[in-house]
Amino acid sequence: MLRRILLAASASHRVRQIITTAPYTRDVVARFVAGDTADDAIACTRRLLADGLLVSLDYLGEDTADPDQAAAVADEYVRLLARLGSAGLASGGRAEVSVKPTAVGLGLPEHGEKTAAGNIARICAAARDAGTTVTLDMEDHTRVTATLRLLAELRPDFPDLGCVLQSYLRRSADDCAGLTAAGSRVRLCKGAYRAPDGVAFASSAEVDRSYARCLRILLGGDGYPMLATHDPRLIRIAGTRAEVEGRAAGSFEYQMLYGIRPAEQRRLASGGARMRVYVPYGSDWYGYLVRRLAERPANLAFFLRSLISTG
Ligand SMILES: Cc1cc2nc3c(=O)[nH]c(=O)nc-3n(C[C@H](O)[C@H](O)[C@H](O)COP(=O)(O)OP(=O)(O)OC[C@H]3O[C@@H](n4cnc5c(N)ncnc54)[C@H](O)[C@@H]3O)c2cc1C
Repeated sequence: MLRRILLAASASHRVRQIITTAPYTRDVVARFVAGDTADDAIACTRRLLADGLLVSLDYLGEDTADPDQAAAVADEYVRLLARLGSAGLASGGRAEVSVKPTAVGLGLPEHGEKTAAGNIARICAAARDAGTTVTLDMEDHTRVTATLRLLAELRPDFPDLGCVLQSYLRRSADDCAGLTAAGSRVRLCKGAYRAPDGVAFASSAEVDRSYARCLRILLGGDGYPMLATHDPRLIRIAGTRAEVEGRAAGSFEYQMLYGIRPAEQRRLASGGARMRVYVPYGSDWYGYLVRRLAERPANLAFFLRSLISTG
């Protein structure tokens, strides 16, 4: 219920104004976001790589309404990848990038899909030059079919382009089954957006069962599963399932968000697992922050405490 209210409130300009201008908001943001600039993102990447973690960088922003802005987001990724490459941080996919299709044009009223495809292809080419990969984030349920179409269109040229599937959607087990071929990189997460009951599971127990079902499909296939969750139970299930399937440690990875369960991230990495941290950066952090607050009361409490402490 709280999650629904927060996700609904996130669309309100008034709520946005209150949150973005509150004096101590930036302290909360700093817990989940590397900083405003590519320099901040690269410094954070260096620290995480030095700790034996892998990284996926996300330039914050979504729902771009203007083609020039969509191209500018792609330019930012291209520049970032060139810097990661020349600094030796991207080789072997150690640091890669995550891209939201609506940030590079998918939601444009005209030629959205074509614009997004062109921009993503540019980012993929830059990633290939740097020796790394791109993963398409999955946004709300109305974008899933178009995002999977983009993936299918671009994979012949960029076979290591990955995508995200969300276990809260009823369709995702079927989508997982369609993406188990060798080389297919799929990040499985629970899903962070609002969706009507008809398309999404309503209870967290059902979402978790669906996650377990999807991870079995992915780990049982020939692709490269990327298991994105902070949920200790699902992480245990993933580890057991990987053993049953005879998966080598390098044939799949765990993923978590920057600032969430960092000790567990290090524990998994030091045990020999591939552990990737999703690191957002940029000044357009509002939508990302609200989704983090909505998924966990403790995150919200942390935020409210910092607001109260201003007074
Ligand atoms: C790498 C990555 C990429 C993602 N990409 C996308 C995407 O493209 N599209 C999308 O819709 N969503 C994405 N998400 C978000 C995802 O869908 C979930 O909203 C988010 O991960 C929270 O779900 P959870 O699996 O951690 O489980 P939750 O149900 O939120 O938490 C389960 C359990 O995990 C533990 N836990 C969670 N948070 C904490 C914490 N702060 N401290 C201690 N324990 C904690 C607790 O035990 C909790 O009960 C991504 C998540 C990750 C990790």
